[in-house]
Amino acid sequence: MAVKAADAAPPPAPAAAASVEVDARDAPRGIQRTHLVLPVKPGKLTLLYPKWLPGDHSPDGPVAGISGLKFSCNGRTIAWRRDADNMFAFHLTIPPGVSSLDVVFEVDSALGATDNDAVRLSTESLSLILWNQLVLYPAGARSDLLHYTAQLRLPAGWTFATALPQVAGSGDIAQFGPVSLTTLIDSPVLSGRHFKTVELGGTPAVHLHLAADSEAALDIPDATSAQLRKLVTEAAALFGATHYNGYHFLWTLSDQIGYEGIEHHESSDNRTAERALIDEDMRHSGDVLDLLPHEYTHSWNGKYRRPIGLATGNYDAPMRGELLWVYEGLTQYYGMVLSARSGFASPSDALGVWANAAAFLQARKGREWRPLLDTAIAAQLGYTQAPEWKPRTRATDFYLESAMLWLEADTLIRSTTHGAKSLDDFCRLFYGPPSTGPKVIPYDFNDLITALNTVMPYDWRGFWTQRLTRVQPDAPLDGLSAAGWRLTFVDEPNVPEKGDAAIQKQTSYYDSLGFMLKDDAAVILSVVPGTPADAAGIAPGSNLIAVDGRKYSKDVLADALKAGGSDTRTIRLLVQKDDLFSTVDLHYAGHARHPRLERDESHPDLLTAILSPRT
Ligand SMILES: [Zn+2]
Repeated sequence: MAVKAADAAPPPAPAAAASVEVDARDAPRGIQRTHLVLPVKPGKLTLLYPKWLPGDHSPDGPVAGISGLKFSCNGRTIAWRRDADNMFAFHLTIPPGVSSLDVVFEVDSALGATDNDAVRLSTESLSLILWNQLVLYPAGARSDLLHYTAQLRLPAGWTFATALPQVAGSGDIAQFGPVSLTTLIDSPVLSGRHFKTVELGGTPAVHLHLAADSEAALDIPDATSAQLRKLVTEAAALFGATHYNGYHFLWTLSDQIGYEGIEHHESSDNRTAERALIDEDMRHSGDVLDLLPHEYTHSWNGKYRRPIGLATGNYDAPMRGELLWVYEGLTQYYGMVLSARSGFASPSDALGVWANAAAFLQARKGREWRPLLDTAIAAQLGYTQAPEWKPRTRATDFYLESAMLWLEADTLIRSTTHGAKSLDDFCRLFYGPPSTGPKVIPYDFNDLITALNTVMPYDWRGFWTQRLTRVQPDAPLDGLSAAGWRLTFVDEPNVPEKGDAAIQKQTSYYDSLGFMLKDDAAVILSVVPGTPADAAGIAPGSNLIAVDGRKYSKDVLADALKAGGSDTRTIRLLVQKDDLFSTVDLHYAGHARHPRLERDESHPDLLTAILSPRT
């Protein structure tokens, strides 16, 4: 049994509020400054920098980006020493007669930083403020019981949005709180010079806030706004309750910072290409179609109901990711489902997204040594895994592979109950009424099995244990087949694949020659085991120089794939690896291959039913 919030001991009274003042006027340069005033008592004190970040499921707090760290009491400098074992802990001694401690530091961020460096989340026109980067807190405390008031100073003329309650403010300074440290860290601020808010309806109200690197990129089509309003309606119909007092989609449109989505209880931090809303290809990429529906689903699955191993109570205790196949996998499933039900993805785009997911799983050959469950347990490794060998190593496979398994579970419930029940009933039971404000109800594997059995008695423990722990090379596409569809391949990419290529600036030859190609420098990013490129010994990181004697271009490679019949032929590539040029022969039969779903008439079409709107 999980420890339920109701069973826990009554919480001690909250401590006096701390304050944090953030100066983001230098954010475009990559520098954010903070000044904390913390209530303290004389004696030894250990302060922690947030390390394990909710949503990241990783110990990736950007502690290496800190500089200018200084502690003082009543103007007197206090010496500090970092813990020898925990890089996120700072020890100091508070002198007698002192009740408050001043802390100042800045976070210096860099483009494309990884691990514990601070990645730059600002451009000349916009900035994301993540409070976890800008606070310290006393060791041993639960973040729910620490309270902070927050002040934010932005570049002149910028607008902002956040789920934090604003209590005052004038000019470019906003004052928030007091809120718990949990709520503060769960409430990023999106700010910028080009800014727009669209109301999406709902009860409580849902808002969409856009910040972009250009005014033109804010020009969201009316149809898109209407689809996002429908997303709010469809989520309400699915879950039957909400667990927020208001919800804010924060959507950053920029090519200068990485693409990402981070869930929060009453908001989400969504980052895409600058032209994601106004470029037809990008708007319909799989990346964009799933993003907002996925992050919104997390308000229920991940934030309200959270695996016990991820509900740690502070940012210091390690998070256990073994139930991420629910937290992320079921969210991935309902992100794809709600995207279709809302019309944000058209019916044919939605089928394209599922086709691409199935093909992605087929190219994931690491399944032959590593069970799905291990990718969840090792989530903290998967997020920073280099792309080159992911088809062999696997990485965060608990997203798409689990989504395919949840489709199998949904079809099983639908067919066994002759349509009387579905996975939607599980969602209503597990995540639904009564509506509440933000709170966390942890669960464990047994709670999940009990809830699934309440919807439909079945050996759910066996179902999940087998699928999570088996080691088998084949992609688990039984759910797709039970839903009445099969994966096939055609010459032309589908719309979401075209969009992904436009956004990621790379082209997939995974299902033909067996590699992914970065467009501008023609770098081979990764190679799939068992394909012609793998058999020819091509190494990721090589540059593609020429195809059949002609200088490489996308068209030259497309022509080479088009030229042959169905018999095996040789496609000769000139590649550069490090400083050596070599010729490699790929033995290949057929043409370009891109994923597509086709109807399997031996099963009823459950997928169309699943993807159809409820309202
Ligand atoms: Zn997620």
